[in-house]
Amino acid sequence: MTIENDYLNSLDKLALLEHMYEQLRLVDPLSKRVTEYHHSQSMTGETACFDFWGKNKICDNCISVRAYLENQSFVKIEYNDDRMFMVTAIPFEKNGERIVAELLKDVTRSMVMDSGHQNQKTEIRAMIDFMNGLALKDPLTGVFNRRYIDERFPADLAGSLLADQELSIIMADIDYFKTVNDTYGHLGGDAVLKGFADTLGGCIRKDKDWISRYGGEEFLICLPGADLARAVEAAERIRAEVEAKHFDFGGKTIRITASFGVCAAKPFKGSKVEDYIQCADEKLYAAKRHGRNRCEC
Ligand code: GH3
Ligand code: MG
Ligand code: MG
Repeated sequence: MTIENDYLNSLDKLALLEHMYEQLRLVDPLSKRVTEYHHSQSMTGETACFDFWGKNKICDNCISVRAYLENQSFVKIEYNDDRMFMVTAIPFEKNGERIVAELLKDVTRSMVMDSGHQNQKTEIRAMIDFMNGLALKDPLTGVFNRRYIDERFPADLAGSLLADQELSIIMADIDYFKTVNDTYGHLGGDAVLKGFADTLGGCIRKDKDWISRYGGEEFLICLPGADLARAVEAAERIRAEVEAKHFDFGGKTIRITASFGVCAAKPFKGSKVEDYIQCADEKLYAAKRHGRNRCEC
């Protein structure tokens, strides 16, 4: 056993790091439960790990989930109010379970040259948001990329399991999209993809739901806490909106339709992301087989 493993396996010794970091905490990135270390005392409270950042929602770029899933350490810069932090997430095993140690170092003074200047802080925050987004956003459509699914979905499964709620996903695929490219060129196709993603974004709950570009013209919409009836209603609303929409490309109007596969289930311990995706995919292909421009569940 290396010295590093030795001290990480003994939680008390996290205190050794107290002088180097402003916050030491242990996080279960799936349930978002957090245990904080202060003056050699550990405290498990009611707050979730993301409360620290004051954003009132799960962090998009959650390196603790990545550390948990990939069993490697990750570092990022994040801010809360007017302080900037370097966050290090280190995975380790405790009693056969993997958890993550998060070390938060206040780097405000080293990042902000003129500490009193509000503009500079605003610019640095915008830069941090941009950089955190780069890792997880699809550059063409601005929705999340496929990697985000792996990082966010397990947390939503755990959240729905704890809340004893269903979780629904919708797989959406533009119909005959190849024809759009063939008729208007790839730039026309790109404009439609962007407009389609914007339309999806306008139809979901901003605080809970999220959208990811799964592949070329296929998008996954996740609706935590929604049962099948609510998810089908959402998919039908999106379907009608897409059908009615006039997408603009350099003064030309492009009309499209899309097909939707909806899957809803109550997660159980051991629920897998892939099972939900496969189920929604099968429904999507049924929607294609049954004539397109429709939802199947
Ligand atoms: P279906 O109704 O069965 O879904 O037919 P489809 O034509 O939509 O499906 P198909 O899989 O045959 O074609 C998808 C096309 O999407 C092919 C690919 O060139 C195009 N595509 C994938 N990514 C992009 C992109 O980023 N931009 C553009 N313009 N086209 C893309
Ligand atoms: Mg298609
Ligand atoms: Mg497709």
